[in-house]
Amino acid sequence: MEKITIKQITTELIDIPIKRPHQFSAVKVSSKSFLLLRIELSNGYTGIGEGTTPGIFWNGESVETMKVVIDNYMAPLIIGEDAVKLESLLQTLNRQVRGNHFAKATIEMALFDGLGKTYDVPVHQLLGGLCRDRLNVRWALASGTPEGDINEAKEAVQSGKYDVFKIKSGKESARKDAERSLLIAGGIKGYSTIGIDPNGSWDRLTAMSWMDAFFEARIDFLEQPLAPYDIEGLAKLTAMKKVPVMADESVATIHDAIRLAKEQAVHIFSLKIHKAGGLKNTIKVAGIAEAAGISCFGGTSLESSIGTAACLHAYGSIPNLDYGCELFGPDWLADEIVRDPVVCKEGQIYVPDKPGLGIELDEQKVQLYARKEKVGGVH
Ligand SMILES: [Mg+2]
Repeated sequence: MEKITIKQITTELIDIPIKRPHQFSAVKVSSKSFLLLRIELSNGYTGIGEGTTPGIFWNGESVETMKVVIDNYMAPLIIGEDAVKLESLLQTLNRQVRGNHFAKATIEMALFDGLGKTYDVPVHQLLGGLCRDRLNVRWALASGTPEGDINEAKEAVQSGKYDVFKIKSGKESARKDAERSLLIAGGIKGYSTIGIDPNGSWDRLTAMSWMDAFFEARIDFLEQPLAPYDIEGLAKLTAMKKVPVMADESVATIHDAIRLAKEQAVHIFSLKIHKAGGLKNTIKVAGIAEAAGISCFGGTSLESSIGTAACLHAYGSIPNLDYGCELFGPDWLADEIVRDPVVCKEGQIYVPDKPGLGIELDEQKVQLYARKEKVGGVH
């Protein structure tokens, strides 16, 4: 078979408006930024990948840093190389460029898309095949007020759109966050349940003191209550056996995963393909979880349909994805840059089944949302 090499890699910044402002623990955003990456292969196929982060507060990378690092350091290392030797290419990137997992994942995503198109199979088939063809989606309530969140959740349940929820916290003090969470859980009692995600902003003592109340309120899980480095604190909360404790910021790489497993620090790993450095690494992290009896949750960096499709191919192939996913990015965005957005109905999101990621760009929309001037930061 003729060798398939990487001919060219191009990147561009895209800003897509969102339906309503979203309150994270650190910032409020009204549009979402993406890095659109294309890898042209010598056989004529082009793979697309999408880089995006929850925000630079999350792990230190941004779409702008990804563009600089990929254009100047990563692309030159792999152009001309054998595109089929994907793992070996990733090892090259890891040896030459420390960290920058989101950027690496963006390249890997485009390679998988290009290879899937080459072999005429969906990416999930390159990953070992599906355990499920659709995933249950958890919607994040972030309207800004408890009443708004309660109404939004009730409406979503009544209309059949979503049936489980997560609330972001961390904007206020830990105590106020906990009180607000319980208010919302109480307000939707009989309709649905919530998980709580303070994005690492709580302290040990406050988190511990609320565990009984969370148990009483049947909170689904407490995600990353403590700072990413406080593994010992997470282990103490987990040992209380009140509500399932989930790691998100604390578990990015396979090395984080083995440490958390050894220290019995959490019940659940939130997976994210970008933080792990790609689809393959995400599946490796899930494998460590599987061996340790830890459940997985399909996390999101708020991707568009491109990145969401990549997540779906990976998550769909993971056996221990016991907690469903939160791949609501496409529903959260006001528009898309693809012709065929991923399908989400009645709280279920479907794994695409066309070759590669199964997503086709709408070049007019790409042009429309391409960043025209140099603006950085939060919009
Ligand atoms: Mg999280």
